[in-house]
Amino acid sequence: MKVATGTKIVNGIAIGKIRIYKAPVYEISDSLVDDPIPELARFEKARVKVQEQQHALYEKALQTAGEESAAIFEAHEMMMEDDDLIDACKEIMAEQRHTAEYATRQGFDNVAQMFREMDDPYFQARSADMIDLKNAMLDVLFGNDSDSMQGTEPAILVAEDLAPSETVKLDKSLLLGLVTREGSSNSHTAILARSMNLPTLIQCKDITDDWDGKFAILDGYNSCIYIEPTQDLIDSLTAKHNEDLKKEALLQELKGKSNTTIDGKTIKVYANIGGPSDIGAVQVNDAEGVGLFRSEFVYLNSKEDPSEEEQFAAYKRVVETLSPKLVIIRTCDIGADKTIDYMNLDKEENPALGYRAIRICLTRKDFFKRQLRALLRASAFGNLGIMFPMIISLREVRECKEILAECKRELANEGVKVGEIQLGIMIETPAAALCADELAEEVDFFSLGTNDLTQYTCAIDRQNAKLEPFSDTHHPAVLKLIRMTIEAGHRHNTWVGICGELGADDTLTEEFLRMGVDELSVNPKSILPLRKKIRSIDLSKS
Ligand code: PEP
Ligand code: MG
Repeated sequence: MKVATGTKIVNGIAIGKIRIYKAPVYEISDSLVDDPIPELARFEKARVKVQEQQHALYEKALQTAGEESAAIFEAHEMMMEDDDLIDACKEIMAEQRHTAEYATRQGFDNVAQMFREMDDPYFQARSADMIDLKNAMLDVLFGNDSDSMQGTEPAILVAEDLAPSETVKLDKSLLLGLVTREGSSNSHTAILARSMNLPTLIQCKDITDDWDGKFAILDGYNSCIYIEPTQDLIDSLTAKHNEDLKKEALLQELKGKSNTTIDGKTIKVYANIGGPSDIGAVQVNDAEGVGLFRSEFVYLNSKEDPSEEEQFAAYKRVVETLSPKLVIIRTCDIGADKTIDYMNLDKEENPALGYRAIRICLTRKDFFKRQLRALLRASAFGNLGIMFPMIISLREVRECKEILAECKRELANEGVKVGEIQLGIMIETPAAALCADELAEEVDFFSLGTNDLTQYTCAIDRQNAKLEPFSDTHHPAVLKLIRMTIEAGHRHNTWVGICGELGADDTLTEEFLRMGVDELSVNPKSILPLRKKIRSIDLSKS
């Protein structure tokens, strides 16, 4: 038996034979042509064909992997019209008298190289898209339309790397898992693998050609692949795999079903996300909406303070794609563990108790207004909720509302359309929980941030691993504050959700339902297991 390790992208176990895939290698001549006209015509014909193929791949991905993954191919379609790229290729044919194949390789490789040299990992990963398009062009120019990546038997596909177009072309019924030597967790192939929920390992450096046809087990849980595993390992991992399959099948049956207890109480189950790249997970896991979009990730993923336009694009994408589902975007919660160089924040003695979240926003009004304007503009494209983090007082909520009203007035004067929004605050400080009655008068909803609420109630720094033995996630004081908040909210017609990690703790689900919680917002993978739990509860029994 051999074991090779890598980086897992998707958990799970795949058992079966290996099929090694190698992309075709084309011999491209560098001899010159007398007449460039036929080359230019061949290039143009191939370009149009590849663009059509990308459109077909977009349609296919839309059906199988969701809007977010499909967007890659829409981007590819646009890249195939890029004037700079096309002109560069044409020049190589018209001026230098090279063939269409040579010009394609040269032109597309140059752009891929340019992407590779950029600092931003997002753009670096786009270099793979350019190589993907180059290969598609060469396939057409060389007349290779074979689709023989997978053979006829289900297998674990092993490759140097896979382009997005190769990944989406894969027939899932013949695919047990994916292993690549290259690839990054930010690549579109990884995004597609996640949305197909396929056990996947990347950066597996020990792949060798002699694996082809051998029996193997891809163990996503342990980030490795066993080639010709021992019988003991086959037995234990097969048992684990069967368990996973059973769980998965049962959970899939819950898609489209309501989050209703046996005695008929229904609550909302929403997803927590960090940005547009999580839209697929919201859809695939059948979330009814987004209960917490941690907008600070938009800031953390940016090298400089993101402009109103950049933020608008990110918020609009999520709100519009998921419309008519409610999407609650939390305003920037920077500070404490989430620091950003360009914010120039001072080092503090007690950062968790320091200058963070709404405290920054209320003292850097221009910074705050940029985000609120972007959010208000995005609200015209779907169903948006805005919530403010780290609130401790009525004064803060009123100030937030005044600044929001100022932004609305500005946008109205500019003739910009704004939609209806729900307004909420996070209840994540004991101060807010204890003043919940007064605060509820001001907003449409509360969202309990139990991570911080526990930290501040128990005086346990959530970042400090040494405090684990002292920490009690079910501390009675925290549960009491949650109950008080829900009751206070309901006294004022303010609905109450939980978006901290406790929302996904199924040992507390029944208690939360008994307290009257209206919504639980959890990581996308926890949605179906939570639905299962809710549907097993009978509140009529004490
Ligand atoms: C929380 O505090 O529970 C919460 C959801 O916010 P974050 O974890 O981002 O601080
Ligand atoms: Mg918090």
